[in-house]
Amino acid sequence: MHVFKFGGASVKDANGVINLGNILTKYADKNLLIVVSAMGKTTDLLEELTQSYFQQKENSAALLQQLKTYHSDVLRALFPDENHPVYNQVANLIVEIEWVLEEPPMDDYDYLYDQIVAVGELLSSTIVSHHLNARGLKNQWLDARSYIITDNTHREARVNWEITECRVQQDIPAILAKEMVVTQGFIGSTSENFTTTLGRDGSDYSAAIFAACLPADDITIWKDVPGVLNADPKWFDETQLIPELSYLDAIELAYYGANIIHPKTIKPLQNKDIALYVKSFIDTENGGTQIRTTKEALPIPSFIFKINQVLISILPKDFSFIVEDNLSDIFNRFHRYRIKVNMMHNSAVSFSVSVDDTGDNINELLRDLQERYAVQEQRGLELITIRHYNNQTIARVLVEKEIIMELKDSYTCQLLVKKQGMG
Ligand code: ASP
Ligand code: MG
Repeated sequence: MHVFKFGGASVKDANGVINLGNILTKYADKNLLIVVSAMGKTTDLLEELTQSYFQQKENSAALLQQLKTYHSDVLRALFPDENHPVYNQVANLIVEIEWVLEEPPMDDYDYLYDQIVAVGELLSSTIVSHHLNARGLKNQWLDARSYIITDNTHREARVNWEITECRVQQDIPAILAKEMVVTQGFIGSTSENFTTTLGRDGSDYSAAIFAACLPADDITIWKDVPGVLNADPKWFDETQLIPELSYLDAIELAYYGANIIHPKTIKPLQNKDIALYVKSFIDTENGGTQIRTTKEALPIPSFIFKINQVLISILPKDFSFIVEDNLSDIFNRFHRYRIKVNMMHNSAVSFSVSVDDTGDNINELLRDLQERYAVQEQRGLELITIRHYNNQTIARVLVEKEIIMELKDSYTCQLLVKKQGMG
């Protein structure tokens, strides 16, 4: 059994869906489970719609219309017969959102978010499944919510592995023996049948959950890059493809923010020793990265850039500050605002962290911290992480940069920097 995952960029329009079908005609046999994300930027759009509905703003109707138009354009390009059942199914899924929007928002935001945003994946998987069937690629559409069972932490649900594994094994291998399966990434359900989501970009993780529970022989994530690169081409001219990576290196790269694979994806695969391939859906014959157990260290230095960092330094209001005594209180406050720490450093008298400057919730966190501590902030910084660093690679990234905070261990170097000449 094999698992393929196709992200939003790969199915952003009708041509993307056709390309997905082309890939399957080359690679597929019936033992294939396909996980798809919402099309293009649908999740962003649905997020905006949820916010607008929650705050009862006027643009909800316009945003919903945008969702409809986008999907019906794709439908018309793929299914010339307007009586094809896919039209009704897509309309019914959108009605589910309309039902939510009809009532004023009474429920918790995160709960409502999941009910609305999950529809993106239901739409894309429905369209993909019908397209494949129409091309003779026989498949069964499955609702991932019947298999991936989670707790009720909406927007960041935690998987109940025992029940999930049991559900997956109960019927999916038998279906895969007959035909392919198409299902959704990102979404799950509580044991009481309330829809949940696994966190933004969670479709990779979904694919890994299915792969680990089946268990699959391997999993392939199809992306718009040739594989895992040693830096994001957005920031670096000369990037190199890393043909082979250990699970550990992949976890670390993802953890430090390399935009390759959702950080939670690797561990379940490593536990079951399932190889992960990252390949290009554009250039399907070339390149690719294989992630699996390997003894060799990653030979190529990797660079991860995160801009828009804010350094928050937490200091004593009096002389009684002992960092250790205050750490759990500080972390609780970060957790309350869902703020992820990218780098941290503590000394006897202060505790400093670098986080993404996400605007409002950072300001709320700062106000909250100020209740108990003296707080300093420095914005507009950049965090550079180098895996397998040496002096040369450090020098390469420090041109015209000034170091604000620096951390090194044997494999990883983190540099929080600001542009020289800036405030
Ligand atoms: N559609 C979801 C998102 O954009 C999940 C994913 O694409 O992995 O976050
Ligand atoms: Mg996506």
